[in-house]
Amino acid sequence: MNHNNFDVVNMAKEENELFQTVFTVLLGGGEKCGVCGKSVYAAERQEAGKIIYHKLCFKCSECKMSLKLNNYAQADKVLYCKKHYQEIVVAKNTQSTNVY
Ligand SMILES: [Zn+2]
Ligand SMILES: [Zn+2]
Repeated sequence: MNHNNFDVVNMAKEENELFQTVFTVLLGGGEKCGVCGKSVYAAERQEAGKIIYHKLCFKCSECKMSLKLNNYAQADKVLYCKKHYQEIVVAKNTQSTNVY
């Protein structure tokens, strides 16, 4: 864990903002990765569909291929590449008559 790598000097635009940032960091961060559930820091942040991910966690849950914002698919917070989204999510939803 390294909690010391944020640049306090550059963030000190406003005291209020600084305190909020410090508290957020001390409390474990407000943003949790949608895959591993751990705190996400600015340098490793990847947002997709209003969910925050680590850049390293932003990959297909099936084949572990790294995803980009222009080629990912998301179903119920789970990430897929386009191929596996078709195979797993779309196929499942169309073949089965009693999903949900
Ligand atoms: Zn993660
Ligand atoms: Zn895949």
